[in-house]
Amino acid sequence: MSRRAVTRSARAKKTHTVKGARVRQALSRKLGVKPAGGRGKRIDPAKVADEALPFWKRKTLAQMTRREWESLCDGCGKCCVNKLEYEDTGEVVQTNTCCRLLDTHTCLCSDYANRKKLVPDCIQLTPGVVAGMDWLPHTCAYRLVLQNRDLFWWHPLVSGDPETVHEAGVSARDKVISELEAGDLSDHVLDDWL
Ligand code: SF4
Ligand code: SF4
Repeated sequence: MSRRAVTRSARAKKTHTVKGARVRQALSRKLGVKPAGGRGKRIDPAKVADEALPFWKRKTLAQMTRREWESLCDGCGKCCVNKLEYEDTGEVVQTNTCCRLLDTHTCLCSDYANRKKLVPDCIQLTPGVVAGMDWLPHTCAYRLVLQNRDLFWWHPLVSGDPETVHEAGVSARDKVISELEAGDLSDHVLDDWL
């Protein structure tokens, strides 16, 4: 089977706007991992008006302030990992390669300010874009909020520690190599998703 379009997305540093990908949509079936503890709990709709709750439990993506939106990114880096799509079947597989700008240890974009110039197909995440991106990892906080699910214990907003996403093993940290070093990406297809 032949493959086409390398796919990826992007996420911002905590202090920047979250951004997205050059990925094709329609990837949801295989996206992401199911983390230890299963998926986030459903949020009780009756609680959404409770001002005492943290913003991600009572606001939609569209209602969030810019600061809230930015802080929602868990820093996993998985949306910057390259995927390949089979042209004949539409199946999408993940590789162990990532965007040239991803720091493979910190899982942050190494040149956020110039990313659009350096990686033109890195697009910005917005509430509308997230809604159409079913290829985002199941652990992605934007996806969880969109689905009225709570964040996991390891999310920095919950734990108070940006390292917990890595300690929990749900990030791309040290699991991928740069596409600049990888050669043919089809030689790097993973059996399972990160
Ligand atoms: S340029 Fe690359 S590393 Fe930076 S946010 Fe976009 S996909 Fe991720
Ligand atoms: S939470 Fe993870 S997958 Fe979602 S935008 Fe941030 S880095 Fe990407």
